[in-house]
Amino acid sequence: MKLLFEKSVPGRRSYYLSDLDVPMASLPENLCRKAPPGLPELAETDVTRHYSALESRTFGINDGFYPLGSCTMKYNPKINDSVAGLPGFAGLHPLQPIEGVQGLLEALDMADRCLSQITGMDKMTFQPAAGAHGEFTGLMLFKAYHESRGDAARKTVVVPDSAHGTNPATASMCGMKVVNLPSTADGRVDLVKLQEVVGPDTAGIMLTNPNTLGLFEQEILEITEIVHKAGGLCYYDGANLNAIAGVMRPGDMGFDCVHLNLHKTFSTPHGGGGPGCGAVGCKSFLQKYLPGPQVQKDGGRFTFDQSDESVGNILGFYGNILIVLRALAYIMAYGKDGLPLIAKHALLNANYLKHRLAERFEITNKGLCMHEFIITMEKEAKASGVTAMDMAKAIIDNGMMTPTMYFPLIVKECLMVEPTETEGKETLDEVADTYIRIYDALMADPQAAKAFPVNTVVGRPDEVAAARNPILRYTSVDS
Ligand SMILES: *Cc1c(COP(=O)(O)O)cnc(C)c1O
Repeated sequence: MKLLFEKSVPGRRSYYLSDLDVPMASLPENLCRKAPPGLPELAETDVTRHYSALESRTFGINDGFYPLGSCTMKYNPKINDSVAGLPGFAGLHPLQPIEGVQGLLEALDMADRCLSQITGMDKMTFQPAAGAHGEFTGLMLFKAYHESRGDAARKTVVVPDSAHGTNPATASMCGMKVVNLPSTADGRVDLVKLQEVVGPDTAGIMLTNPNTLGLFEQEILEITEIVHKAGGLCYYDGANLNAIAGVMRPGDMGFDCVHLNLHKTFSTPHGGGGPGCGAVGCKSFLQKYLPGPQVQKDGGRFTFDQSDESVGNILGFYGNILIVLRALAYIMAYGKDGLPLIAKHALLNANYLKHRLAERFEITNKGLCMHEFIITMEKEAKASGVTAMDMAKAIIDNGMMTPTMYFPLIVKECLMVEPTETEGKETLDEVADTYIRIYDALMADPQAAKAFPVNTVVGRPDEVAAARNPILRYTSVDS
């Protein structure tokens, strides 16, 4: 496929400007270009067809089943996009006088109160632009808290080995030392080991619950108590809130701070690096350290305030607020009674698909799983050379997105499946039938397994070479 630049035809335009009806302004010579910018010159049809062709080569939730574990790639109701697109919101400018944005501030205040109630926290910030950015914010709060008490020696963060990779990365970014906590044989936090690693140097723990093995940490109250007794704080990675929203609250589990991926659970489409919101909630004793301006209600009027002890700004202005509006519309549409159904249906779907796939696959979750489960193909890889990668590549050929591959790192040859609540039983059955059919075909002919995918634009790129020896300069192609 050619680039727009290669399709460019000199003089071709897709706009019509009316004749100048005001005097021509003259710009200072030093501000004027010497030559026109090298932009593609195209008709509207060229541009439209180009982007439609690109779109047809990608795969998204609107195309089919997208079970990417730990990502909650669920269907997002389109009406929430309409709410975020209302001109009274979408047309605002961040520097507009406060009198002109009272409606938005009221909506942000409502979203704060709804999400605080859902998480069991006291106050939220919407400034963080991603989950990882929220984690960073949370640890900054922990740091500010310990330093304010003259307890600056607390420099280690305990992270279970089942954690999302962003957790240890965040702790390092904040200048903390990561203490890796190995899981028990059943995949949960080992209380004895936790007790051994916490001490006067512990800044806190970062925990995902349900963890990335799709398991609920049943001893969660003991875990947060051990950390608190040692003087540390507890951070809840709430990116997986889809599994518990409206049913359980991190605040009730003993956590001091949590981030939510509004772009996973709360109705903003994600992937591809688009804008996100890693909203962070905290208990009241951390509130004064929150970043960015906070919405305050002063009589009947909303204003902004930022505490002197705030950790500062971690993004410009108030964050990606249109994402917050989608979340608010979503929460209000489902309400207090509807929200728990989302979590329960997510668990029901995961357990149904897990049950169906257990006909062929080895699944690491014994008993019930939460919103996701893990298939391991370690035995198949050893016996016949058919790997999780082969399975995933064959799935792509059948018009479905793969599950998350080779994550979490502690399970060999794994595929992590998160069907989400927005899939119907017919889809889940079709998925189970397809996976089983593919499995049988790969096992019958392990040699052929290496050929997939055959129906895609790109087959099997050499991923190691692509990472070690990246070609970052475009060279023309004619396909
Ligand atoms: C997705 C995810 C994150 C990171 O969120 P980003 O928005 O991608 O930065 C962190 N933790 C868990 C458990 C996740 O699933």
